[in-house]
Amino acid sequence: MIREPLTLFCYADLSGQVRGKGFPTRLLDKRLKAGIGWTPTNLMFTALGTIASSPWGPHGDLTLMPDPATRVEVDFEDGSPAERFFLCDLTETDGTPWDCCPRTALKIAAKDLLRETGIVLRATFEHEFVYSGAETRAGDMYGLGAVRRHGVFGEVFIAALQAAGLDVESYLPEFGPGQFEVTLPPAEALAACDQAVTVKELARATAHRLGHRVTFAPRVAPDGLGSGVHIHFSLWTEAGEPISFDPDRPFGVSERAGSFLAGVLRHMPALCAFTAPTAVSYLRLVPNTWTGVWSNLGYHDREAGIRICPVFGASRKAARQFNFEFRAADATANPYLQLAAIIRAGLAGLRDGAPTPEPTTGIDPGVMDEAERAARGIRRLPSSAGAALDALEADAAASAFLSPALTQAYLANKRSELELTRAWSPEELCARYAEVY
Ligand code: GLU
Ligand code: MG
Repeated sequence: MIREPLTLFCYADLSGQVRGKGFPTRLLDKRLKAGIGWTPTNLMFTALGTIASSPWGPHGDLTLMPDPATRVEVDFEDGSPAERFFLCDLTETDGTPWDCCPRTALKIAAKDLLRETGIVLRATFEHEFVYSGAETRAGDMYGLGAVRRHGVFGEVFIAALQAAGLDVESYLPEFGPGQFEVTLPPAEALAACDQAVTVKELARATAHRLGHRVTFAPRVAPDGLGSGVHIHFSLWTEAGEPISFDPDRPFGVSERAGSFLAGVLRHMPALCAFTAPTAVSYLRLVPNTWTGVWSNLGYHDREAGIRICPVFGASRKAARQFNFEFRAADATANPYLQLAAIIRAGLAGLRDGAPTPEPTTGIDPGVMDEAERAARGIRRLPSSAGAALDALEADAAASAFLSPALTQAYLANKRSELELTRAWSPEELCARYAEVY
């Protein structure tokens, strides 16, 4: 049959859904300069197929402006159309940034961090997901057999990532039935977010070609296991020197990293509105599931809201490996907004020169008494999406982390989605979100 290659210009919307418009690839050169038209109200699409009340209505126009560095062209060589897309900024039609563009919000946050402090944040998003083509059985966790029995998915997926220019650091069978995890090496904030979008799309693209699906939903069953997004981050100079680690300070946390972490912990309940924004997020964020339900910094602790990660091998490499992991996050969020909010909160801590939080070691905040938690400034993170949105609105500083228009649009969008799910049972929540994500 005759075929004409297609390319799509896309962006990750407020729900992290990747949407955009396509054109014949032979027009790419022209389109790279001109972008493609987009509609402001599309930002108010919810993940569930509705449109939240839009401040723009039928009015106005935007441009999806591609970033050439994000180009993906992956031909699976199975006769199916290649995956061909670019990630874009949303701009006004004259090319100036749109104040509701999530990707631009991240760029501005990273730029402000650099300008004010000289710090560059590096990050990587660790993704867990469930593959429908896995032949699972009880006791499969981390099993060699689990990889064998999920067939070619893993190898095709990794080849697709490599074809898109993404290196894979690890790929593993996780704890849950059919659950796998993929990690990439850290990159500067914008590239890390672009990669988070591409990784998920190429996992979906791979599964699709094998007649299956993957889902990154935080829970696929109310009593099942969660799939998290663990956001690893570390601080660097512009010249590429690591500055999170200081061997002469407690737990190796440098003074500047300590201030950054203090800011993130201070705003963490509000940050959950960006990092874990949906009703199904809170079926995952429950105590004793290795997810992170407290605003604590935990030393090598997978129950902590933020974990100080271990370093492996020779100590001279410690500074370059040393990083922190924000665990109260999942894939129903937009990665650019997740990281923008974390950077903004960290920057607030740096501006104040906030003292380094005292890490918890070997103790779960859940077993401390209220007075001890209060003395350490540890709070229970929101236990519902509504509470997370309330926490954002109650935190004046966090409400100003993004532009006023973007914050308003975000809150309206999320509240509207939440309203749709209000009457859904946990089973229905899991089923519906597993389908979408
Ligand atoms: N699956 C867990 C989560 O929902 C994390 C398990 C792990 O530490 O890798 O975040
Ligand atoms: Mg994991």
